[in-house]
Amino acid sequence: MAEGLKVLIGLEVHCQITSLKTKLFCGCPADYRGKPPNSHVCPVCLGLPGSLPVLNWKAVEYAVMASLALNCKVSRRTLFMRKNYFYPDLPKNFQISQYDRAGGSPIGADGHLEFMAEKKRKTVRIRRVHLEEDPGKLSYKGAIDTSPYTLVDYNRAGIALLEIVTEPDLESPREARAFLQKLRSTLEHLGIFDGGLEGAMRCDANISLEGGGRVEIKNISSFKDVEKALSFEVLRQRELFRKGATVRSETRHWDDTRRITISLRVKEEEQDYRYFPEPDLTPIEISEETIERLRGEMPELPDARKERLIRQYGLPEYDAEVLTSDRAMANFFEDCAKVCGKPKAVANWLMGDVLQVLYSLNQDLSESKLTPAYLAELIGLMDKGEISIKIAKKVLWETMKTGKPPSSIVEEKGWRRLADEAKLRSIVEKVFTGNPKAVEDALQDPKAAHFLIGKVMEETRGMADPEITYRLVREKLEKLKGESR
Ligand SMILES: [Zn+2]
Repeated sequence: MAEGLKVLIGLEVHCQITSLKTKLFCGCPADYRGKPPNSHVCPVCLGLPGSLPVLNWKAVEYAVMASLALNCKVSRRTLFMRKNYFYPDLPKNFQISQYDRAGGSPIGADGHLEFMAEKKRKTVRIRRVHLEEDPGKLSYKGAIDTSPYTLVDYNRAGIALLEIVTEPDLESPREARAFLQKLRSTLEHLGIFDGGLEGAMRCDANISLEGGGRVEIKNISSFKDVEKALSFEVLRQRELFRKGATVRSETRHWDDTRRITISLRVKEEEQDYRYFPEPDLTPIEISEETIERLRGEMPELPDARKERLIRQYGLPEYDAEVLTSDRAMANFFEDCAKVCGKPKAVANWLMGDVLQVLYSLNQDLSESKLTPAYLAELIGLMDKGEISIKIAKKVLWETMKTGKPPSSIVEEKGWRRLADEAKLRSIVEKVFTGNPKAVEDALQDPKAAHFLIGKVMEETRGMADPEITYRLVREKLEKLKGESR
């Protein structure tokens, strides 16, 4: 029945090459975020008549590195193509892109990427990696289908984009999310991409159920939303199957406020784009030497880093996998482990409580007030027995909320464990004097001593060291027993 139908998902991911200073075909600055609309533009990226594009060669080098990192074959000779379509985000009415037919080829093809999803190792084939220019950004008032007008900002037009297309090898929305996480980490390790920037990674997803039409979902802008949009589609398509209706091939838009996909148009066919070679740019020649030089310059990638974390810090494979699936987290881990010398404790904190607090505060690790030095300090306080695990969790929360160092929070809140014997002994004396009936009971029945221990804890607001307190109360009771004999 509909539940058993196999789900096939392919992704088309657009990643801005965020480490470039300028756009792909002009000298406009690439840091357009937060700038007034239409202020980072020139005749080239506005597509004014008579303007000519000039290729940013650094973008080609980065695209080659991305292709190598994704185990693709790199084309020695390739072309830019015009992809023609009429849409307000595209001032020239065509996008300079690449195409794998009509004499063209993408920069990288036939690759693969391995990742872990639900504790299983999975390989996804990469169909192609190509370079193209980002269109402008359209803004709507409310939802796309009810907005009374559309605003356009061309600051983003012409930003260098990598388009990375997978084969339909993903079998669940969760796998799709895990794949994107690994892809992001890989590009971040290459040093060409910062996935923390708003809109830097965007995704279109193709999804079909065995025997149904292929639906393309546009406009998904976060990992969480990829999983949500795809889950919504799986349910919607299963429901159609159940009713005996057909799933037609179409393009749908992910509405992230209403959390549904809506039908936009019946999908264009490739021939509608009328691809042809871009006459204003010469073909790109990539020599074997360039490829080998770039291969030599590639930094450590997540899989190699994972192996190193296992060797160097003695981490279990699972921990190393989780940590390296996020570059910021892997960096944080290594910085912290070096300071505090307890790698497994650092990994446990990062993957457990730290992630939970980040989630509650709706933050990324890179935006967090927690530093490697603070986490090392917190682990140190626990190791020295100055705070309990329960208190440590409370301190972590306070540090991440306020940015204050753990030791000052412990001081301020009076959360240090009370282990001073003389002080504790005087509190025990006070509790014994104040609760003669309970002392009588405890002398008869050793179990009743818990009441007295509880009173000491109350007096110290839970800060008394439980072992020392237990011993002092027992000693005091033994002494009283001796005296009454
Ligand atoms: Zn420009």
